Parts: sequence; C-alpha cells; structure tokens
Amino acid sequence: MSATAAPKAVALFSGGLDSMLAVRILQQQGLDVEALNVRTIFQCCKTPVARAAAELGVRLTVLDVGDDYLDVLRNPRHGYGKGYNPCVDCRAYMGRMARRLMEDSGACVVVSGEVVGQRPNSQKRPQLGLVARDAGLEGKLLRPLSAKLLPATIPEIEGLVDRRRLYGFHGRGRRPLIELATRLGIRAIPTPSTGCALAEKNFSPRVKDLLAHRPGARRWEYELLNTGRHFRFDGKTKMVVGRNERENALLERLFQQAASGEVLLVEPADFVGPVGLLLGPAGERTINSLAALLVRYTRQCDPERASVRVWRGGQCHVRRARPAEAVHPAHRL
Ligand code: SF4
Repeated sequence: MSATAAPKAVALFSGGLDSMLAVRILQQQGLDVEALNVRTIFQCCKTPVARAAAELGVRLTVLDVGDDYLDVLRNPRHGYGKGYNPCVDCRAYMGRMARRLMEDSGACVVVSGEVVGQRPNSQKRPQLGLVARDAGLEGKLLRPLSAKLLPATIPEIEGLVDRRRLYGFHGRGRRPLIELATRLGIRAIPTPSTGCALAEKNFSPRVKDLLAHRPGARRWEYELLNTGRHFRFDGKTKMVVGRNERENALLERLFQQAASGEVLLVEPADFVGPVGLLLGPAGERTINSLAALLVRYTRQCDPERASVRVWRGGQCHVRRARPAEAVHPAHRL
C-alpha cells in the first residue's frame, strides 16, 4: 500500500523573515510547501529570494504581475497607504495568483507571513479578511504567525494543519520572530527588507504625477518610474535623464519598447553624458530643454559647442544642444 502524499501548500514568499517562518511552520507539520514569489513593476523588497528558498529547501516559483496590475495602481478598491502603495489590493492580487497556483498544483491552502498589526493600514484584522475575500481565498488563506488571533481556516478545521502548533504574534516586534526562527533552525536570518518603492515619499510623487497626467499610461511608463531623474516640463511633457550607464541602457531599451512617435530619445553626439527621453509633444523648445539637461549633467563638454543626436522612431538627426535657449522644466519629480 502506497504512503499517503503530504498535503500541499502554496506560500506567498518575499524571502523575508516572516514568509520564511510561515513556510517553515508548515513544513514542520509535514506539508509539502511550494514558494511563490511575485515580482511587481517597482523595485521592492530586494531580499535574495532564491537564497531564502534554498535555506528552507523549498521549491520556488517566480511570477511577474500581469498588465491588469495597473488597475490595482490606478484605482485601488481599498485605497492607498502613506504613499501610493495600494497594499490591501496588491496583496489580494498576489493572493489571486497564489490561488491559481494552489488550484493547479492540487494544494489545499495558501499561506503568508502576515502578522496582525504589523502594518498600520494593511495588516489589521479587518484588512486581512478583505485580502482573503478579494483573493477568493476565504477559509484558505492561512497566516501561521498570527493564526491564533484569526478565525480557523478550512485546513485547520479539517485537521490537515494543527492549529495548536500555530502562533499568535501581534504587532511590529521583530525580536520574537528572530527567536522563533532560531528555534526552528533557520540559520541565515535575512535583514529587514528595503520595503516597497510605492510607499517611499521620494518615489510616490512620480506615481502621482503619472496618474494625474497619463491616466491610461501603459506598463512601460510605470516601469520607467524606476529609472533616472524625472522632470515635469508641462501638462503634456515629461523628461527623464539617466544617472549612470545602467540607467542609460535601460532608457534606450524602454525607448525601443515604447515605439511611439510621442517619445524621443536624445543622446550626446560628441561628448560623454547621459541619455534622455522626452515623453509628449516634441518641438524645438522641449528638445532644447532636454538637451540642456544632458549638458547640465556632464562636466565633460563645452555647452556652446555640444551636439546631441535626436531619435524619433528609427530616424535620427544631429543638432547643437543650445542650452542657452532652453526653458527649464517646471519641477523635478
Ligand atoms: S508594500 Fe508594495 S508590494 Fe507590498 S503589498 Fe504594499 S504595494 Fe504591494
């Protein structure tokens, strides 16, 4: 007679301490856990997720959010946090991705490392309930670290998970979680994550600006927010200037992706300096202004003699930068 297969679980896995603990707690109860890491459009939680999965000996699936994630950003049902972070809706979106993986893999539950009261807006008890409901995971979203403070899930009721061996953590304290990690044999305890760009006060003005000026903006325009210095020129025009070689290369790649007559790429023709993108109607005035920004962010040219290459689609022309004739952008984002 063959041995009964272990019940399966899908864990939402950032690679941070909380999600590692959630996985380990279920592993200790004999569940077969698969970790799902969801990558959003923005630089977020730069935890070495593969290393964390290896530490736990868990299978890791990494998925990118789809274009429908833009609706979460544009119009979150449950609003934003302190920046432009739509955490409740974002978690529900990730929960839906985990639910699909749960259904495909025959798992009985989705687990996450959320702790009641750890975040002021998104991890209060009612919000945790909203996430489960909106993800279509009512009764099937288990938070092992705070389970004793929450209603029992179906796997607990059915005895697949022993509720007595779950926890009742509450609040922001990290020390008790580190102590638990040590008790559960997790050796490489990750440092706290860098957090989510959407919640940063320096980043959220870029999101606010895009939502205000380009409500129908496409994915690449959101990706662009991660890169370069951004300047709002007027209601229709924005300029982005690379800060280093990596960003210059990224701007060139995004320019190829944009493939639109509404986007221009301007680059130095006879000096070493940054690359710039011009989004919006391009005329002499705006091209001059972007060229002036390129000159401003290099010390290696004579502003009066500098030339730039202006790319529109596959066409290129070379012209003088003429920074003296430039109008300065309204403000930097
Ligand atoms: S912090 Fe960022 S990635 Fe995390 S749930 Fe909130 S919006 Fe989503």
